[in-house]
Amino acid sequence: MSAARALLDEVAENRLLSRWAALLPRPSAQLGAIHEADAELLPLDDERLLALTLDTVSEELELGLFRSAETAGRVAATAALSDLAAVGADPLGLLLAVTLPAGSPEEAQAAVARGVGEVCRAAGVAVLGGDTGSGARLALTAAAIGTVPRSGLRTRVGASPGELVFASGPLGAGNALAAAALFGRPLPSCDERAFRPLPRLREGRALRGLATACIDTSDGLCAALDQLARLNGLGVAVEHELAALLCPAAVELGRELGVGALPFLAGQHGEFELVFTLPRDRLAALALVARELDWRPLALGRTVAGRGLTLNGRRLDGAAIRNLLAECGGEPRAYAEALCRLCCEGGRDGFLLDAQLQLL
Ligand SMILES: [Mg+2]
Repeated sequence: MSAARALLDEVAENRLLSRWAALLPRPSAQLGAIHEADAELLPLDDERLLALTLDTVSEELELGLFRSAETAGRVAATAALSDLAAVGADPLGLLLAVTLPAGSPEEAQAAVARGVGEVCRAAGVAVLGGDTGSGARLALTAAAIGTVPRSGLRTRVGASPGELVFASGPLGAGNALAAAALFGRPLPSCDERAFRPLPRLREGRALRGLATACIDTSDGLCAALDQLARLNGLGVAVEHELAALLCPAAVELGRELGVGALPFLAGQHGEFELVFTLPRDRLAALALVARELDWRPLALGRTVAGRGLTLNGRRLDGAAIRNLLAECGGEPRAYAEALCRLCCEGGRDGFLLDAQLQLL
């Protein structure tokens, strides 16, 4: 096994994905290897690439993190479109596969449609079609289809040491929602009705030719940074006060629960921001597109030679964080408690912000 593959396979989810690739045929025309992009990329006959991706919402419903079918619809649509955003695609549309609960199919259908429709209208995307079935409980899969100009190809691979690392916006909303549900803290800001992430499609497109690598934070910030580090054979140093990276809901819940910022960035119930790398000489160009979009990217830190994650000087074991849920037997409350313990071991929420990064 290659060293790069061994590094990726330290993470249990990566091992499962690699195994699928070994078990199933993969088209030779497909760009890149498994793990290397948020969406699958296939060349079309013209100067474009087809971008395909899908996401399922069922675990969140089973675990009680989402109680409403509307939230499930919203998140399924956003998750799929967010993967298109990460590769900078122009969406062509969504496909939906919905298992409606046998007892009240029409009520669930209307709620799913409200959620999916809200995201589609905000993103200017239509639903192409799909499949409907019935079962014991609601489950929902959204597939997103788009195209990318071949010249604008961007995946998770392409970063070099010494580049800047950004997030497209404040982080922690997904983990705040999960923690509020698991620990029984019904704060309005952490309620699922307040969880309305939208895919960063405009920003993803604007980063064509600027970002060298990009991934979304659907599994949380630490997983995104860890995956970028492994795929690019480098390290990531976050040099920013962690609390300042959080959305208001995570700040409020952290205060309520008495925990620091890191669990909201390390937990795997992420949000749908983009994390991207940028050479320093493109900083002015990023500032320009950010102004045009009225968008404030968050400077996180930089890529460094070496391996792994460093948060304000503190080493973080990305594999340990990402494998924790499996090690807790998939039990979410035990996972959340173990995560908080892991995050509290040593270290501090330091503040080493590079003054140059404040340009934005
Ligand atoms: Mg993704």
